[in-house]
Amino acid sequence: MKPTAGEPGSLYLKQLEIGPMANFVYLIGPAGSRDAIVVDAAWDIEAIIQAAARDERRIVGALVTHWHPDHTNRIQELVEATDAKVYIHADDVPWLREPVGNIVQVAGGHELPVGDITIRFLHTPGHTPGSQCFLVRDRLVSGDTLFIDACGRTDLPGGDPEQLYRSLSGTLAKLGDETVLLPGHNYAVLTPRRPMRPDRKARRGRISGIFNRGATQRAGMRRPPNVTRLRGRDTSEPRACAGPPPRRCPF
Ligand SMILES: [Zn+2]
Ligand SMILES: [Zn+2]
Repeated sequence: MKPTAGEPGSLYLKQLEIGPMANFVYLIGPAGSRDAIVVDAAWDIEAIIQAAARDERRIVGALVTHWHPDHTNRIQELVEATDAKVYIHADDVPWLREPVGNIVQVAGGHELPVGDITIRFLHTPGHTPGSQCFLVRDRLVSGDTLFIDACGRTDLPGGDPEQLYRSLSGTLAKLGDETVLLPGHNYAVLTPRRPMRPDRKARRGRISGIFNRGATQRAGMRRPPNVTRLRGRDTSEPRACAGPPPRRCPF
């Protein structure tokens, strides 16, 4: 088999929608290589491995955005099939429900080189204590920290709306407007009230669509009083910010 073609320094990135909760799984790697890193391998490991194989790639590592089962179920099958290391933030390791081998506990700031690309790990707690996003070039794989037009819920065990506020308005808001958002679920819908969203396929968005002044104010994410208000929320209203997602994430 020939290696995947591509310019030196360019990026291979594939988005797969898998499972009953519209989870997005990502394959990432350098162009011109046979290696792929998978993000949030769950639900159907064979389908993920086959998707990589169709692109003449083998999975050499696994990144976990957070411990929730819809992002980690059956990941041990991946370990057994590929012997990939599993990179998970140390604060989420204690929450894993099932034993997982080959774990590498990481912290924010970790960098994983893969060929001629580097994946940067950003610790973005709030949805879970050890939630992390992965930045590669101008692509941000955000897990359940940030969706298109919404952010992750904070009412589940370990969730914290103040931490999520800081992760969104601090860590992620610093990213450039050119950053492309690749969320953990396909929750976005097309509505005419969002004229700034550039991607009409609703599979990814740009940070500018989330954090520009107008969008951010509409989402209620600029002012700390929003966080105070959220503390008193009934858990029947689990969202921490932004408009209602079309489907509620059970995890
Ligand atoms: Zn999820
Ligand atoms: Zn989650």
